[in-house]
Amino acid sequence: MRCPWCGNPEDKVVDSRAADDGDAIRRRRECLSCRRRFTTFERVEEVSLSVIKRDGGKEPFDRAKVVAGLVKAIKNRPVTDEQVARLAERVEEKLRRKGPVVTTQEVGMEVLTLLRRLDEVAYLRFASVYKDFQELTDFERELGLLLQKRPATPKRAAGSTRAKSKA
Ligand SMILES: [Zn+2]
Repeated sequence: MRCPWCGNPEDKVVDSRAADDGDAIRRRRECLSCRRRFTTFERVEEVSLSVIKRDGGKEPFDRAKVVAGLVKAIKNRPVTDEQVARLAERVEEKLRRKGPVVTTQEVGMEVLTLLRRLDEVAYLRFASVYKDFQELTDFERELGLLLQKRPATPKRAAGSTRAKSKA
């Protein structure tokens, strides 16, 4: 299995267990080059998972795309590569249960649901990057819900003092 982080094809299996109620074997692997870990799912007969894009086109689900989107969203945030990998894996598991065909919007919403619990800033970034897969109103509704949850913060940030009258 090629390492999703560095592309090295050599790894070792560090753990194997049943997943999806025994329909799959979940293997934790460790890259022999960069030492980062990732998970693969092995099935007797791999059931394909396809994604319907907004333009109507269909493509195989690619977890690496989810990871790539997440990596951008978590930049400078206290979220580890390990957490990103796990989140992407959970998204794939959820989508496979819905599958075999899902929409890009469903992919995005699964990511957002899990990402919100992990890091709100990353969540907002991901939502804004991926808003083109949703109707803008969906994004605005999500943003509105998130902002409503925030307690009012009277604390003034540096730079906002221009609100004070200078005259
Ligand atoms: Zn690696």
